[in-house]
Amino acid sequence: MSRIKLLEPLFVEFIPRELEPGKLYVSMVYTTTAHLCASGCGSKVVLPLSPVQWQIYFDGEAISLTPSVGSWDLPCQAHYWIRKNKIWWAAPWDKKRTEAGRRSDARDLDDFYDVRAATHQVGDESATSHRGSFWERLFGKREGLGRV
Ligand SMILES: [Zn+2]
Repeated sequence: MSRIKLLEPLFVEFIPRELEPGKLYVSMVYTTTAHLCASGCGSKVVLPLSPVQWQIYFDGEAISLTPSVGSWDLPCQAHYWIRKNKIWWAAPWDKKRTEAGRRSDARDLDDFYDVRAATHQVGDESATSHRGSFWERLFGKREGLGRV
């Protein structure tokens, strides 16, 4: 297993079934990214883009992703940052932090989707939270955004 040091961004509409190592596939249409784990283990890492999942920053040449990539479900337990196409290795996750991270991720996601669901059902701006109405205003009503 050799670690990947660089990820070259590749803007695509559809994420291909077979990924090439060292490439970061970005689909703006489907608001998602995919790459092969930088540990070199060959696992596919799919990072959906949303206000509470991952965000990309593209400076015209290189891509940065935030927050970090923590593959705690994989045997390699990889944890790294993608900054200007470069992989920066973080300290390995210890069990306690992993659990805490998981819980807070799940909570954020629940909040995010609950707000959207509520907005869709009620259809009344005054009944939605700040965050919900902001995203509704920014994107308009978006159908078909499911849990991932
Ligand atoms: Zn890996």
